[in-house]
Amino acid sequence: MRPAAVEAMLPFLSECYANPSGSHRFARDARRAVDEARDIVAECLGVPAGWVVFTGCGTESDNAAITGVLDAAARTGRPGTAVCPAAEHHAVLHPVEHHGGRVVPVDRSGRVDLDALADTLRTTPDVRIVSVMAVNNEVGSVTELDPVCSLVRELAPDAVLHTDAVQAASWLDLRALTPSVDMLSLSAHKFGGPKGVGVLVVRDGTRVAPVIMGGGQERDRRSGTHNVAGIVATAAALAETDAERHDEVSRVRSLRDRLVDSLLAELDGVLETVPRAHKIAGSAHVCIADIESEALLYLLDRAEVCASAASACASGAMEPSHVLAAMGVERSWSAGALRMSLGATTTDADVDRAVEVVTDAVRQLRR
Ligand code: PLP
Repeated sequence: MRPAAVEAMLPFLSECYANPSGSHRFARDARRAVDEARDIVAECLGVPAGWVVFTGCGTESDNAAITGVLDAAARTGRPGTAVCPAAEHHAVLHPVEHHGGRVVPVDRSGRVDLDALADTLRTTPDVRIVSVMAVNNEVGSVTELDPVCSLVRELAPDAVLHTDAVQAASWLDLRALTPSVDMLSLSAHKFGGPKGVGVLVVRDGTRVAPVIMGGGQERDRRSGTHNVAGIVATAAALAETDAERHDEVSRVRSLRDRLVDSLLAELDGVLETVPRAHKIAGSAHVCIADIESEALLYLLDRAEVCASAASACASGAMEPSHVLAAMGVERSWSAGALRMSLGATTTDADVDRAVEVVTDAVRQLRR
């Protein structure tokens, strides 16, 4: 976590521990802290504070968008369908599939195929929600939301447009994304906030039913006692991320470029999975010929280089990547996928070490 976020959260774990839904003075202090956090998050997103809903994680925000919009439509006698691209995070893909939705192909960089999206919107009656991620979590590709928005407004004018922007917050100005969409999901631990706090932006007038019902918190959009410390820390982390983003993007991009260029120079048979022009600065994804990711990750882990092959899942089991498959990456390449993420704490020395360890490990495995 960002030190500023840890510092912001500490008082709310000790002396300011009250439940903001209470009516006594300490509760009112806690409520004020949540309101201030909401104002800060809203400012970083360029939206009114009333559009910001705090949730329990990015997965919950994504589920709340898909299921909440479909439920609200069904309750008013307008049942319908959800649509998303094939390279979405499972937090979107699984609810869309669960509700019998339509999954649209992506291009070689993992971005939604706009012609296929247009066909799907033309041929699917009653599309209620379209969910298109801003940044892919595995390969780092950025999808321009404006053209997606134009298509949805033209071909499915009643549909809600949601974006999973969980991987965007550190790298893209969120104020530039919010005008194109009706709903947007964030997860605090992707920008130096605590794990277990999510944000869901809901544009005024969007019909969405709550998936978590109970005490009516968050204006009845998400019940459950507020995680005050987590929410306050989320706001502190997002504010700092927002203030530093411009400089961080260029600093991290040059580290990432050096990391990938060095691997390409040191090793044969390395494929840069997505062109850098299509990617965020903090993502380095390569496919390495003639090795298996699992064996490579084992050697990297022993040398304390922490990387992954696909996305982190609960079991830690290594499943073939649905993202690379959707992008049409041949199995011979995707078998040797290596995903390295850089961020606010990454240094030049980290890059030197990663290049050395990855190069040695690949040579060892190939021998
Ligand atoms: N969406 C994307 C693109 C992600 O990368 C992640 C987490 O890795 C999630 C959703 C889920 O967020 P959380 O881990 O907060 O549930």
